[in-house]
Amino acid sequence: MFADLHLHTRFSDGTYEPAELAAKAHQLGFTCVAVTDHDTVEGCAPMARACEALGISFISGVELTAEFKGQEIHVLGYGFDPADPNLLNQIAQFQAIRQQRIRDMVARLNELNIPLAVERVFALANCRAPGRPHVARALVEAGVCRDVDEAFERFLKKHRPAWVPKRRITAEEAVALIHRAGGAAVLAHPGLYSVDPWLSDLVRAGLDGLECFHTKHSHMTTEYYLSLASRLGLVVTGGSDCHGENKGQPLLGSVRVGPELVGRLRDRIAYRQANRLRLTD
Ligand code: AMP
Ligand code: FE
Ligand code: FE
Ligand code: ZN
Repeated sequence: MFADLHLHTRFSDGTYEPAELAAKAHQLGFTCVAVTDHDTVEGCAPMARACEALGISFISGVELTAEFKGQEIHVLGYGFDPADPNLLNQIAQFQAIRQQRIRDMVARLNELNIPLAVERVFALANCRAPGRPHVARALVEAGVCRDVDEAFERFLKKHRPAWVPKRRITAEEAVALIHRAGGAAVLAHPGLYSVDPWLSDLVRAGLDGLECFHTKHSHMTTEYYLSLASRLGLVVTGGSDCHGENKGQPLLGSVRVGPELVGRLRDRIAYRQANRLRLTD
């Protein structure tokens, strides 16, 4: 039994439809998957249906963009109720911020005499949680850039000419939001930030786990976070962070986590669900 707990669909910046992703995961031998789109849960219901049809288990997920110690960090939520009204209301606000940011980024590009139409970006994105990858794809389509990487390098990376900062909730708020919806909160790919000295602050805020296994973590980085998770009493998760066929070879299959780990995550989710009633009273 193997799981991939970090996957994107076309409902954020991935390229696969949920059913397509489920079929590919099944083909590769996965028996459990979670969809973790950026700031949206729209992919959860179709993915759950596709997984059920294939006989593999599914965990609802989301990857929330948050702010911690002046950095952008990503907080993964697992096992929450995807119909939770408070969660959906907050997510709708994150999506409105994302949509406005797309307009601002395109305006910057237009000021640089790049005639990109914002409607084209929204049409390409075809989702409620558009992001920089969609602007990048539109730049490639318009022949302005050779590929998505060039678009990020020239225009979209932090402090490049079309980069626009994104208003974010705090990491503590993201954790609380996930807990209120009955889910467990996990810090995504900690090896990509420099927040280790303050991890205990997040644990005090109720953080449940650390994503130790991730495509961008070296073996040593993984070992380091495994020992940190054990010291801090956090559950361990992992996933490929596959975005489909955006950037060459899809990452699906590059990270596989075992049943013990999924079992511990499920225990933590059960604990959060039991506590949910107390939080929403
Ligand atoms: P956003 O949420 O709009 O700020 O976009 C962030 C997303 O862009 C990440 O989740 C990645 O999928 C993607 N991304 C970030 N940096 C790069 C890069 N240098 N090249 C390609 N994709 C990137
Ligand atoms: Fe992404
Ligand atoms: Fe992320
Ligand atoms: Zn991700």
